[in-house]
Amino acid sequence: MACAVEVHGLDVTYRSASGPVPALAGVDLQVQPGEFVSILGPSGCGKSTLLLAVAGLVTPTRGEIRIDGRPVRAPVREIGIVFQEHLLLDWRNVLDNVLLQIELRGLPRATYTASARTLLTRMGLQGFEAKHPFELSGGMRQRVAIARAIIHNPPLLLMDEPFGALDALTREQMRVDLERLWMDLRSTVLFVTHDIAEAILLSDRVVVMTARPGQLADIVPIALPRPRTGDVQTGPEFLHYRTRILDIFYKFGVLHT
Ligand code: ADP
Ligand code: MG
Repeated sequence: MACAVEVHGLDVTYRSASGPVPALAGVDLQVQPGEFVSILGPSGCGKSTLLLAVAGLVTPTRGEIRIDGRPVRAPVREIGIVFQEHLLLDWRNVLDNVLLQIELRGLPRATYTASARTLLTRMGLQGFEAKHPFELSGGMRQRVAIARAIIHNPPLLLMDEPFGALDALTREQMRVDLERLWMDLRSTVLFVTHDIAEAILLSDRVVVMTARPGQLADIVPIALPRPRTGDVQTGPEFLHYRTRILDIFYKFGVLHT
């Protein structure tokens, strides 16, 4: 299950006490059903704003977002979201945290309990169903957050720097596991990151953004075969993509010599 996402001429300007804050300007983007697209850019360039706008949680100042052709005018239900902070409830165990999504949507808990257990096993959390979030490592907590985001089989998964708070080794493992998971799910994914390697290794296309107000600098299609494990990161194609993205950041003044 996957859906198409279209972003047309999107501007978002926040109002604040010190005046208007332009966060996004003239963003156009078409995402195909089942595509894995990363939004890559510096801190404060509007990446989270773009994701929230797609989710219907931030109202565009100008422009329009469509999911499967339907304009987004209210919070979208057919999505899963994963944030940098896992936002698990400490008083609920792992299984109940995953099933929270089901309860909030008024879906029958009994129908989803077996699939929640299967999903947790799939994510390497077998035997941890009755543990509480504070008993888990940071990586395990993010695995639970991902399980909770996909238990209802959403056609669109929005991930906002989901591995940003993890140590480098855990982050590497999470990336490898996410690619495998996505290759099974085949849902559409919008993945926000400021890590160039992570964006290249996960994505079908990398959307490169400029500094605030965020504009789309370029879109880089990544043609590396999947799964992108092993020595892909030292190969010439990977280095070619990395150089190309760095060049874009230099050209738009995000990086300078
Ligand atoms: P990113 O996720 O790329 O770091 P954000 O989308 O969070 O960027 O923010 C883009 C810009 O908009 C930043 O300058 C941020 O300070 C500003 N901003 C974000 N949310 C608000 C808000 N609710 N009110 C005012 N300004 C905001
Ligand atoms: Mg952000």
